[in-house]
Amino acid sequence: MTGVTEARAPQEGRILKLPGACWPETPVRELAGVTPAQAHLMGKLGVTTVSDLLHHLPRRYEDSRELVPLRSLVPGAVQTARARVRGVSGHRSPRRQMALVEATLEDGEASVGAIWFNQPYLAGQLSEGMEILVHGKVVWGVRGITFQSPTWERVRADQRHVGRLAAVYPETGKLTSKYLRALIGRLLPVAEQMPDPLPPEVREAERLLPLAEALRQVHVPDDEDAAERARQRLAFEELFLLQLAAERARRRRLSSEGARVPYDVEAARGFVAGLPFTLTDGQRRAAHQVLADLAGPGPMNRLLQGDVGSGKTVVAAMAVLLARRAGFQSVVMAPTEILARQHHVTLESLLAPHGVSPRLLLGSTPARARREILDGLAGGQDFLVVGTHALIEDDVRLNRLGLVVVDEQQRFGVAQRQRLRLKARAIPNFLAMTATPIPRSLALTLYGDVDVSELREMPPGRIPVETRVVPPDLRDEAYAFVRDQVRSGRQVFVICPLIEESDRMGVRAVTTEHRKLAEEVFPDLRVELLHGRMKPREKEERMGRFARGEADLLVATSVVEVGVDVPNATVMIVEGAERFGLAQLHQLRGRVGRSRHRAHCLLFESGADEEGSRRLRAVAATSSGFELAELDLRLRGPGDVVGLRQHGLPEVRAADLLDTVLARRARDAAVAWLDRDPALDRHEALSDAMGGYRAIFDLD
Ligand code: ADP
Ligand code: MG
Repeated sequence: MTGVTEARAPQEGRILKLPGACWPETPVRELAGVTPAQAHLMGKLGVTTVSDLLHHLPRRYEDSRELVPLRSLVPGAVQTARARVRGVSGHRSPRRQMALVEATLEDGEASVGAIWFNQPYLAGQLSEGMEILVHGKVVWGVRGITFQSPTWERVRADQRHVGRLAAVYPETGKLTSKYLRALIGRLLPVAEQMPDPLPPEVREAERLLPLAEALRQVHVPDDEDAAERARQRLAFEELFLLQLAAERARRRRLSSEGARVPYDVEAARGFVAGLPFTLTDGQRRAAHQVLADLAGPGPMNRLLQGDVGSGKTVVAAMAVLLARRAGFQSVVMAPTEILARQHHVTLESLLAPHGVSPRLLLGSTPARARREILDGLAGGQDFLVVGTHALIEDDVRLNRLGLVVVDEQQRFGVAQRQRLRLKARAIPNFLAMTATPIPRSLALTLYGDVDVSELREMPPGRIPVETRVVPPDLRDEAYAFVRDQVRSGRQVFVICPLIEESDRMGVRAVTTEHRKLAEEVFPDLRVELLHGRMKPREKEERMGRFARGEADLLVATSVVEVGVDVPNATVMIVEGAERFGLAQLHQLRGRVGRSRHRAHCLLFESGADEEGSRRLRAVAATSSGFELAELDLRLRGPGDVVGLRQHGLPEVRAADLLDTVLARRARDAAVAWLDRDPALDRHEALSDAMGGYRAIFDLD
């Protein structure tokens, strides 16, 4: 293999490796032609090694393959031409003192002008008689037809920038595509040394390019088809690794000793018969899936998705009851004390008639009460404890833990979930609940080892929250409506996007908004303030006052997003609504409409943003969180929607997470490969590549 030759860059005195004489693991900062500043910028893109750089994929391609004779150039169009350079001159524009470089270009039939701004060094690069390709906007200039700030390149055997499909990379400050093309182009031979994680059998069966070839074609494609095939290959690899990790975790789970809870049909029927309502079809189906998981091999790993109020807690309660009857303890964990308290009350009313009394364990639980709860759990007299993070403290012992229910699980880290599992001898069954659904298409790709149940309908009799988009000029009318509601005894939430004033964005900061509402708009009403910078105790106090009806309006940041139950609140105002995600807006309006009173959500727009407006109207048009999650995903992309990093998942660069066809193909291939290579030791590069996925999926 290539040895490492070193060159000393005189100005920095650093040891620099020349491209072509380095390894996939070589840090980019050691490359000749990469300054510390550029290495730093690359670091921000997650690029630290040559291998990372080769996996830094173009966003799109610029096509400058079609050459137009100079006499046929059309002003207004973006075109490409081949010409000789004549008469280069550099000077300053008389009025704005901008550096200009001008040249005449000719091709034997016609001549046109070319002009560049603020690139004085070009005067030294372009020389008389040089043959170049230019690509850019054609305009009518003072000297006739002119290329305005075109990209250009000398004509040579192997064009890199102009006269071909040229990679355009995601933009980051001074790391231009031109720079990256040149650097990556020189590093491509290193790809030959990179082991291909895809086993040859899989590659052949799926008709995929080898890694090095795919990397070459994705950066320097022969044509569109080649670029597309290259991307497909890289996307397939990412999805294949994800699916492999998920499938392996699933197999391990199903073959491990979980807490087995027999499907006690009589007990389940008895519970349902005792409810003051009939279950929705969704609840019935979800409950059946959960109970079947509990009885099946290996511990359950299920996600229950459903809008706020869709009745997830009832399903969880049924699982708790059956676990209890099989002699297992259950834990129900919520992200905030308020939510935990609510669950405690609900579960108490659902389960006490069946002999299960939940305990409540919070960070604020006094030491003596806490001691008593811990004793009851460790001694095995208590079978259900509801609480917050306080539940994962070391001294909380549950020897017979059989079921863990986590509400709004995306708020908990993987490590915290892990710690709960560790409390049990057998691996407990795991049920996550969320009111922020992950679209099915994504769940398939990302949560290979998680089974998903959905509650898509609401219990009967629920009136959907009436949602309206309020443009700035209708604000006063909206306030008049708020006053009416307060007069008839109702309460109002006002949600602001940020804590600090940001005039430039036109956002009404929560403190300013509070002062304005309290002093100018509603001086006669009681207006409470709540934001994320307050101490937890203070937040609880203020929230408590609002919940007890001691305030009419609660002005808050999105801290109220999860877990406030104030049935008397019927109006949700969202300021600067276009700055929120669709799913988040939907969550927010779920805070009202919890009583028989008709509820309203007013989405205050702050500006004339067409795209933002359209999104808000979509929220007003549907009451389904599932629909909005899908839409959010399509509009903003998966990164923003589910916070992939927060979920601890590796970054997916080439794959389109919505491409369910490719995801399924990758899944089938992963299942087939695992059948042949259960220990994953037949293809070394594959085992190595799987390293990063272990921490995410493996339970042990
Ligand atoms: P979620 O946890 O999904 O937000 P909950 O389980 O807390 O919803 O249920 C919200 C409310 O709806 C509770 O008061 C619950 O008793 C009630 N409820 C649940 N299921 C039904 C149903 N099938 N019919 C009528 N009311 C229901
Ligand atoms: Mg709930």
